[in-house]
Amino acid sequence: MSRRTYSDPIFTLTTGPVDAYPAVLRALSRPVLYDYDPAFLEQYEATNAKVRQVFHTTAPPVILQGEPVLGLEAAAASLIAKNDVVLNLVSGVYGKGFGFWAARYAKELVELEVPYNEVLTADAVADMLKKRPDIAIVSICHHDTPSGTVNPVAQIGAVVREAGRLLIVDSVSAFGGMEVLPETCCADIFVTGPNKCLGCPPGLSLLHVSEAAWEKIAANPDAPTASILSISDWKQAFDASQPFPFTPSVSEIYALDAALDLYLEEGEQAVWARHALTAKACRAGIQAAGLRLWAASEAIASPTCTAVAIPDGVDEAKLRASIRARYGIVFSSGRAETLGKLTRIGHMGPTARPTYSLISVAAIAGGLQAAGVKGIDVGAGVAAAMTVIGEAQA
Ligand SMILES: *Cc1c(COP(=O)(O)O)cnc(C)c1O
Repeated sequence: MSRRTYSDPIFTLTTGPVDAYPAVLRALSRPVLYDYDPAFLEQYEATNAKVRQVFHTTAPPVILQGEPVLGLEAAAASLIAKNDVVLNLVSGVYGKGFGFWAARYAKELVELEVPYNEVLTADAVADMLKKRPDIAIVSICHHDTPSGTVNPVAQIGAVVREAGRLLIVDSVSAFGGMEVLPETCCADIFVTGPNKCLGCPPGLSLLHVSEAAWEKIAANPDAPTASILSISDWKQAFDASQPFPFTPSVSEIYALDAALDLYLEEGEQAVWARHALTAKACRAGIQAAGLRLWAASEAIASPTCTAVAIPDGVDEAKLRASIRARYGIVFSSGRAETLGKLTRIGHMGPTARPTYSLISVAAIAGGLQAAGVKGIDVGAGVAAAMTVIGEAQA
């Protein structure tokens, strides 16, 4: 046996994949049933019903067999037809990335872009839709994770619906960790996954598809069928009497089912509150320690991820490596444009626990202090996070 260089970290406080819930890991160890065994068919139908329950939708959801980038690419491939003009809203790296898929299928891609520490406004979207009546589809990344900022997706969704256009929402790192539902943001295709706030390993995409989107997909001659990218192939799969287009990821379905049970038992309001409190304590601690948040204002900072601006002159990758070595804690880096500029603390599913704000703030402030950054106060940071936790219990 070869010797390993690294042992596992003590805490994985990343923005996905996240440390899965123990009950989810136990579910993954169940025997793998034959997909047409009646016990699995019944299980699959029940899991679909639970997705519908957490989505608060009446239409059956669609579960695709790959982590959520599959759901996003499938949404672009299925909904966008050759003659469509698409407006892609960009406030970060994931929003920008969706544009590359959209451009592959659209006649024209129009983008509305803001700096990656800010978010879009519903007014700007309304103006653009007025200026360009030929826009058929709008796409938005709800919580652009590499920036830790949250777009006002409900307001933007209302503007898009009012204007009679279709909306694709990437809510992968938001759903399950904050108040958002497919229908409250008027999403025609809503994409999320179990591997962020629901606390599962990566492997599935969860989609809500509106009636209008199904019609558009049916009318799109280029919408994929008999393909891994197909949404329509899976339209009837929720129904135990219908065949699967190909083998579903049996174990991932067990894991998802366990995660949905936890979510439903705890109650969505309590789950969202636990994410919000963890992030609030982190933000207070980070600022009291003498650091800055990446988000231009606290109002747009995410409840599922706190992005900490790293002071000039500090090598962010070395900082995370030193934090892992010293404290056994793993955080996320930025991505693309935000890489090297910020460190992200994830508050997702099992890691959305206010207590984790204490070790997160201590580790980041401690790591910077050890790197020789002046003006860092570890104690003040931890005390501020504790105050927020204490106030919530009063
Ligand atoms: C995690 C995430 C996805 C899924 O992409 P991966 O990087 O492959 O995990 C998509 N959109 C957003 C906003 C995400 O946070």
